[in-house]
Amino acid sequence: MTSRGRVRPGWLTLAVVPEGHTIHRLATRHAELFAGDKVHVDSPQGRFAEGAARLSGTVLDGTEAYGKHLLHHYAGELTLHVHLGLYGKFADGSGAPPPAVGQVRLRLRSDRHWLELRGPTACELLTPPEVAALRGRLGPDPLRADADPDRAYARIRRSPTPLAALLLDQSVVAGTGLIFVTEALFRAALPPLLPGRDLTPAGWADLWVDLVTLMTRAVERGRIDTVRDAHLPEATGRAPRVDRHGGEVYVYRRPGAPCHVCGTEVRRGTLAGRNLYWCPTCQAG
Ligand SMILES: [Zn+2]
Repeated sequence: MTSRGRVRPGWLTLAVVPEGHTIHRLATRHAELFAGDKVHVDSPQGRFAEGAARLSGTVLDGTEAYGKHLLHHYAGELTLHVHLGLYGKFADGSGAPPPAVGQVRLRLRSDRHWLELRGPTACELLTPPEVAALRGRLGPDPLRADADPDRAYARIRRSPTPLAALLLDQSVVAGTGLIFVTEALFRAALPPLLPGRDLTPAGWADLWVDLVTLMTRAVERGRIDTVRDAHLPEATGRAPRVDRHGGEVYVYRRPGAPCHVCGTEVRRGTLAGRNLYWCPTCQAG
């Protein structure tokens, strides 16, 4: 993590589809840059002009990530809610902001730092009841200390829906995207199409702990690494992964390649329009 005052702009540009760890890193980053400071806010593109005018001149009290949702809490019970979606992107830096080029939805600056946001799915102000409603729509987030995994299992254990689809449903578990879900199911030796109701309580307990472990590591490293030491290139002599995503993974986006554990070809399938990847041998169920 970059220390306060020494800012590398564009440090998150390697992210592909932001999963929860990216949003938690952004929340920490934004608090480092702006918490306790009065901010000036505008919307060069104009689509957030009214909200920007209400925020401008207020002090950022703190930030928070919940799943893939980023919240900035400002003095006066004003909360800025951002969901990046597929195309949203933040940039930040020290000193004065650069001239706004293109579609800058939100621009925020203090005496020391600036931040700009382009292309989000959501950028809006929420009242406290609206923040509560947002929390109520989301399942437990493995990266939050207040997460209650029993809430998720109450949904999973009653459902005939494939486990992969349940874990991607943000109202069941918040913050998990395709990489975490695919990889956690591999590590648990569970077939992605296993009906939720067939997952045992012990199986869920292990899966939750593994999600917490993988996601916490991703927050620390800024990338998703899921491969155990015994299966890393250093241990087995195989070539390291080459992928825009960056981290070492077992099956995500490796269709046709040999499984790092058993050598079987990794399979790809689709589920509700999303790609799924799994090893038919290790995850035979
Ligand atoms: Zn395998």
